[in-house]
Amino acid sequence: MPYKDECGICGRVLPYSYLRRCWRCGKLFCIDCMVEDITTGDAYRLLCLRCARRLVSPKIRGKYEALTRYLKFRAAFTDMVKLSFAKIDGIIGDNLPMAAYQSESWWENSREKEHARAWLDAGWEVDEVNLKEAYVIFRKTKAAASPANIRRKKFEEPRKPFTPAPSRIFKRKKPSKTKIAKLYARLKNIERQKAQPKLRGKFKPRPSHEKRTFKQDKKP
Ligand SMILES: [Zn+2]
Ligand SMILES: [Zn+2]
Repeated sequence: MPYKDECGICGRVLPYSYLRRCWRCGKLFCIDCMVEDITTGDAYRLLCLRCARRLVSPKIRGKYEALTRYLKFRAAFTDMVKLSFAKIDGIIGDNLPMAAYQSESWWENSREKEHARAWLDAGWEVDEVNLKEAYVIFRKTKAAASPANIRRKKFEEPRKPFTPAPSRIFKRKKPSKTKIAKLYARLKNIERQKAQPKLRGKFKPRPSHEKRTFKQDKKP
C-alpha cells in the first residue's frame, strides 16, 4: 500500500497523514480541501469542499448537466473523448459516486439511468471504461447530429450549384512619381557615399566653396 495518495480536488499527492476521507462521498482529500461538517458543526466529520458546496447550495440543475454540456461542446471537434474520473468530477463540480469507481455497470449506456442520459442525450456513449486507471472513453453516436455533422453534411450535399462569391478586384497601386524620385535619390546618395574614399586620421576635407574660390597652394 502506498504511503501517499492524491487529493480528489487539488490533485496534490500527499502522505496519508495529510489526507482524510469525506464522510459524504467517501473519497480522499487533503485537509486543505476539506471543512468540518457544516450541517452539524462536528469537527471530526470532515466534508470535502465539493460536498460542502452541495450541502450549502442544493442542486438546482441535474448533477450531470455540465457533463452533457461539455460533451455537446466537444462534439464539434472530435468523435472520441477520454476523460479521467477526476476530470469528470471537475466538470460536474461534484464527485462521482463510489459506484462509478467500483462497477462498470454504472457506465452502461442505459436510458433508464439518469446519469447515463447525461451522455446519451448529448449524443455520446461509453465506449470503454477502465476502473483500474479510473478513466472512461466516450464515443460519439452515429445518430448524433452534432453541429459538426450538420456542417459537414451541408458541405457534402450542396443544394445549389456552387457559385463563388465575387472576389474583390485588387487594383495594383502605382507608386507615385515623387516616391520613385526620392528612392532614386537615396540610392544615388548611397552610391556616392560608397565611392568616396575613406578618410584616415584627422584629415578634414576642404569645404566645396573653398575648392571653388582658391587654388590649393594660393590661399590668401
Ligand atoms: Zn487538496
Ligand atoms: Zn465529499
